[in-house]
Amino acid sequence: MFDRRRPARYTVGMADRKLVLSPTRIRTYLECPRLYRYVYLEKLPRYFKARASFSFGTSLHRALQEYHAAGGPQTQDAAALAGRLEQHWIGAGYNSTASEQQRAALGREILAAYHDAGAGQEGVTRFTEKTLRADMGDYFLTGRVDRIDELADGSLEVIDYKSGAHLPSPAEVADDLAIAIYQLLCVRLLARVAVKGSIIHLLSGQKVSVTRSPAALEPVAAAVDDLHARIRSEQEFARVADERCEGCDFFHRCFGRRPRGAPPAVEDVAP
Ligand code: SF4
Repeated sequence: MFDRRRPARYTVGMADRKLVLSPTRIRTYLECPRLYRYVYLEKLPRYFKARASFSFGTSLHRALQEYHAAGGPQTQDAAALAGRLEQHWIGAGYNSTASEQQRAALGREILAAYHDAGAGQEGVTRFTEKTLRADMGDYFLTGRVDRIDELADGSLEVIDYKSGAHLPSPAEVADDLAIAIYQLLCVRLLARVAVKGSIIHLLSGQKVSVTRSPAALEPVAAAVDDLHARIRSEQEFARVADERCEGCDFFHRCFGRRPRGAPPAVEDVAP
């Protein structure tokens, strides 16, 4: 997309096509505009290092996706769910067999509790791992939702599984960018009524929710519109220079060949 011979100022090279925004892309841009440019505009390859937390979360997500696609707690039992975890277990990134086995045991415990608690269902599961994509006029907005349930009153509940240690507070869920965008996509594409957005914290089995009406989602749409305009008019895609750079795939591209762990020099921060 970019002509590498051009000087460093970019007009994004995207005037002729609509941008695609998603919670991940927006988060990436807000955290580091330069990283956004490298990944989504220049499409440079990344070298994902296996991480135990990622492997653990992905294994749980895959097991749950199949479990719900097969009927969830109404037709599946705890043993079937445990079997799916075993089938989809990803062992990459663990620093020892013992730590992997410990996490596998924890995964089985989490899923058994999840099944016993009725999978946090208040309605009927309609979709799992569903990609939603709305044409917002000047850009596309997309998101991949872990689960969408239909509630008794006909409204929808979008559900995001979290496999980390932190249990989000109601205020954090209300502030969660991905949940707000999923709700907006549901309102635009599936139903013009209130949508409940929930995070299921797998470790504790707790569900934390926020419900938004179509009117309450208008400010979300306006904020995404503003962000789209900002990215469109972006010239610099400035670098951040903080602890996030350590471990970033593009460290050398941004700051030259300096040993990892050495902070970027002040002069490096200029775009
Ligand atoms: S090294 Fe730092 S500034 Fe460069 S892309 Fe990565 S996070 Fe952004």
